[in-house]
Amino acid sequence: MKTGAGIVENTEENRQICRKYCGICPTCRHNSLEKYQPDILFCARGESSAPSQKELNCYCPACEIYSKHSLIIGHFCFKR
Ligand code: SF4
Ligand code: SF4
Repeated sequence: MKTGAGIVENTEENRQICRKYCGICPTCRHNSLEKYQPDILFCARGESSAPSQKELNCYCPACEIYSKHSLIIGHFCFKR
């Protein structure tokens, strides 16, 4: 079932999926994004409030939510 391409719901299930990608990606680890809100699922919850962000690789294109919702580009922790 395809549900609202482009719209990602802020659910615990989606946060668990996101942790497999955002949670281990170089950008997240370098900037300690887990210490700031929103701490995960940036494609649904908006960009991180972490200071002095440095953009490294993004793992979003490998994520099933990314393909399911036809998202593009990635790096949702920095810009939407
Ligand atoms: S949105 Fe992309 S760059 Fe940002 S933490 Fe998630 S996988 Fe990493
Ligand atoms: S597309 Fe990126 S931000 Fe969205 S759930 Fe997947 S890994 Fe997380």
